[in-house]
Amino acid sequence: MSTILEVSYFLSMISFIVGLKYLSSPQKAKLGNLLAGLGMTLAIIVTVTGSFYGKGFSLNLILLLIAVFAGTVIGKRMADKAEMTRMPQLVSYFNAMGGGCALLLGILEAQQVHGDSNRTAEVVLLTAMMIGATSFSGSIIAYLKLAGKQKDQKTLAVVVLSRIALFSLILIPVFVSYQFLSLTLMQEVCILAGIALLYGIVFVLPIGGADMPVVISLLNSLTGVATALAGIMFHNIIMISGGIFVGSAGVLLTLLMCKAMNRSLWNVLAGKFKGKKAGSGAAAEEMDIKPTSIGEMATNLAFANKIAIIPGYGLAVAQAQHLCAQLENILESKGVEVHYVIHPVAGRMPGHMNVLLAEADVHYDKLKEMEEVNDDMASYDMAIVIGANDVVNPAAEKDADSPIYGMPIIKAYEAKQVVVIKRGMSKGYAGVENSLFGEENCSLLFADAKVALNGIINELKNIA
Ligand code: NAP
Repeated sequence: MSTILEVSYFLSMISFIVGLKYLSSPQKAKLGNLLAGLGMTLAIIVTVTGSFYGKGFSLNLILLLIAVFAGTVIGKRMADKAEMTRMPQLVSYFNAMGGGCALLLGILEAQQVHGDSNRTAEVVLLTAMMIGATSFSGSIIAYLKLAGKQKDQKTLAVVVLSRIALFSLILIPVFVSYQFLSLTLMQEVCILAGIALLYGIVFVLPIGGADMPVVISLLNSLTGVATALAGIMFHNIIMISGGIFVGSAGVLLTLLMCKAMNRSLWNVLAGKFKGKKAGSGAAAEEMDIKPTSIGEMATNLAFANKIAIIPGYGLAVAQAQHLCAQLENILESKGVEVHYVIHPVAGRMPGHMNVLLAEADVHYDKLKEMEEVNDDMASYDMAIVIGANDVVNPAAEKDADSPIYGMPIIKAYEAKQVVVIKRGMSKGYAGVENSLFGEENCSLLFADAKVALNGIINELKNIA
């Protein structure tokens, strides 16, 4: 049995590695997801079979099978129902479950350990349990914030409580190890679990609601670390490797998101935007806004040779990706060259726009990275900005006082003509005015992305 277990774990590990590799390419992402899922299924089957082999049907096995079945059905339903714009909520919810598991495993395992146990093993158990508890409560708060049910709480009391909780989590195990504090393992586990749950709450409460994708990615990596530590506790190689993959991928993703926003992780965690207060920059009333109409835009498009479509969060909100693809097709049928220019943090999660456009069967060759196109932006007759704001804001390059100064942007303003499709004059995620809207070559089509695209497509059909 142990050979079968080891070979299966090895195959599962390979599937995780290949799956992760494939996830970095939009064409292979689905296959990667499937492979990693199959690897995980194999790991679960052999672990359960290995644990219950030759023991017949026990209550534990029945409970486990019911739990796996219920978890599969509920998880599948939730994933099927979740809209793309709500994906970060779903991830935070699933992550809370992972953290909760590590917390429960820590508590259960503590009951098995007796007085003469090895302190190093106890510290591993305590660390896994504390990280799991922090990740559990932190993810629940992140979920509530994303769902708009919890506001930011950046009060002094919350910040002080967060520091006290963090120091207690570090100092209590040290004091117990050096016998300055006398606690049984179970007492220590219960006290630390309570403090870690509190820490998760006060850690996430002050962070800006819009920074939640970064926080969720960080908490996700913490859950990975907790799983790896639990794997050490249970001498389970697949838990260790799976946890390490999740932990390291989460850290890399967190840092990539911060880099693409030109903000330090500390800045995000402290809930700060650098520079002036969010909201600085030229006021909308001071800008010369030039509204345009669906008819005017369609006519201009009909005479264009090369078009850049720049999608943003608003496209996802409007669920207008299919219409976007239709617009591309109709323009191409008229001999226009069309590219989608993608900013790495457009939308609300990494790869948001790629996934959205893939849903509408937009060919991957049409998608251009920001860096690929920026130097060539002047060659586009028109840049159509659909529901994007911060990622095309020239203030990031030109206004050293702007909170987003230094963030790489798509240089839409360099195109011969720019049309921004949005519903009104709302600011983007960073809460700053967009100086692009006042540029000479820029006009705004005030409409929901779906309504606007529908109108443009109908007009273009009528233009021979
Ligand atoms: P954005 O700056 O948030 O702007 C979105 C714009 O879409 C808004 O100004 C809004 O204006 C418009 N909009 C909303 N609903 C619309 C609809 N139905 N139809 C048409 N327009 C609509 O979006 P972005 O340019 O994509 O930038 C993303 C931001 O999120 C960046 O600041 C980035 O740093 C941040 N962020 C991204 C990630 C990530 O991983 N992708 C993670 C964390 C943070 P109206 O209300 O006036 O229509």
